[in-house]
Amino acid sequence: MFQIKNFIGGRLIDPRGKNYLDNYDPAIGEVYSYVPDSDEQDVELAVQAAEHAFEGWANTSASDRCSILMRIADLIDMKSDYLSGIESIDNGKPKTLAATVDIPRAAANFRFFATAAVQFSTDAHHMENNALNYTLRQPLGVVGCISPWNLPLYLFTWKIAPALAAGNCVVAKPSEVTPMTAYELSKICIESGLPAGVLNILHGTGPKCGAAIVKHPAIKAISFTGSTRAGKEIATVAAPMFKKLSLELGGKNPNIIFADCDFEKMLKTTIQSSFSNQGEICLCGSRILVEKSIYEKFRSAFVEETKKLKIGDPLQQDTSIGAIVSKQHFDKINYHIRVAAEEGGMVLSGGEIAPVNGRCAGGWFIQPTIIEGLPWSCRTNLEEIFGPVVTIAPFETEEEAIQIANSTEYGLSATIWTENLNRAHRMSAAVQSGIIWINCWMHRDLRTPFGGMKNSGVGREGGNEAMRFFTEAKNVCLKL
Ligand code: NAD
Repeated sequence: MFQIKNFIGGRLIDPRGKNYLDNYDPAIGEVYSYVPDSDEQDVELAVQAAEHAFEGWANTSASDRCSILMRIADLIDMKSDYLSGIESIDNGKPKTLAATVDIPRAAANFRFFATAAVQFSTDAHHMENNALNYTLRQPLGVVGCISPWNLPLYLFTWKIAPALAAGNCVVAKPSEVTPMTAYELSKICIESGLPAGVLNILHGTGPKCGAAIVKHPAIKAISFTGSTRAGKEIATVAAPMFKKLSLELGGKNPNIIFADCDFEKMLKTTIQSSFSNQGEICLCGSRILVEKSIYEKFRSAFVEETKKLKIGDPLQQDTSIGAIVSKQHFDKINYHIRVAAEEGGMVLSGGEIAPVNGRCAGGWFIQPTIIEGLPWSCRTNLEEIFGPVVTIAPFETEEEAIQIANSTEYGLSATIWTENLNRAHRMSAAVQSGIIWINCWMHRDLRTPFGGMKNSGVGREGGNEAMRFFTEAKNVCLKL
């Protein structure tokens, strides 16, 4: 069976310990390749390769860095169909989603930060007493990037591209659950002419390989996207070492629907924001709050549209709901559906394992599930489920909606549906989320800072903030 390799010092190599983990195709529930179970020895090798490459890369002109990163973006685009297919097999998501979101956005990440490299600027201040003060921004050295399984190549490149653009060398680890597109990225890096050691990609588990990256003293910063639980563990290790930390963590996002919204537009987008990628997007709205006067209308239309979603083989063109990424995650979502029932929730749609015939009979599929009748303070409404499960309930006033929206430990994103401009601004200021979408969802401008409030993370990624995160800022004062 095919064995994925680590990418260290420009070469595709076996893990030192020769240990491998099973890599499953979740749509059929079977192992289809092996992934390195890397450990401290592999991390050490990768750090040495990155340290060796650092001086050359940091001193490569911004325009040359830009050209190489642009080539990587072009190669991702050229291989888009192939990459979409393997991302779908690795993750269980519909191939059409990978082809329209994950893979184009992965290329866009490289393209955006390639051009950011040549436009990166710094501040200078003339002081009143004849002095010039400026900020000298230099790459940190070797940095670590760790990403999750839900948008595998998209989130992996979102961390790596700004680090490379700012002149750092990277030791990166994708999720062990979805390693395949990161392995393809290794091959693309070789093809693009990226100098050896500038990017090193290690495969393996969080507790073994990820933890070894986080605690390595030569790694100056950690950019992490994943669960709040793992974020806490990482912060515990990295903070006393005074590493720079960017943590993009979990969410329990409210979708607040006012009666004056454009109903049809809201309904179409709410189906996507609830169930895209089987609900396995950190930005999905899992708590749907609906103004009481349109609650009944919304409920019946939402249930009707949800029942039309086609669950099936992720490789088929007309599939809208694919497989859940792993057996472990499948069990977790089913457990939460049982908890919702125990808490008194009423299932309006779904709530069951979805049987899929033929090739995918052994796969891990769950019906898109809508639950009603739960208090906002119950586990189902407080804990991140990260699957195709949403709760719906009515609210009466704006104040009540704000209070419910802010009632969890998370603060990643929120969606607000209203045609009232003043209300839209009031709500945006009052809801405690790092990202607020008004009358839309998942629209991204890469120039804006991206990230969550409260337990959804610290630090902001995107645009200048991401480039700055990966630099050391020196304050230089020159007396004239
Ligand atoms: P996870 O935290 O289990 O794993 C994420 C990555 O961290 C994986 O590569 C894993 O191997 C590694 N890891 C785990 N424990 C580690 C440790 N102690 N030290 C170092 N590395 C470790 O998360 P997941 O299940 O892969 O992803 C789902 C989670 O990610 C959800 O909570 C979701 O909300 C979150 N997420 C957040 C964002 C965001 O932008 N805020 C985006 C996508 C996903």
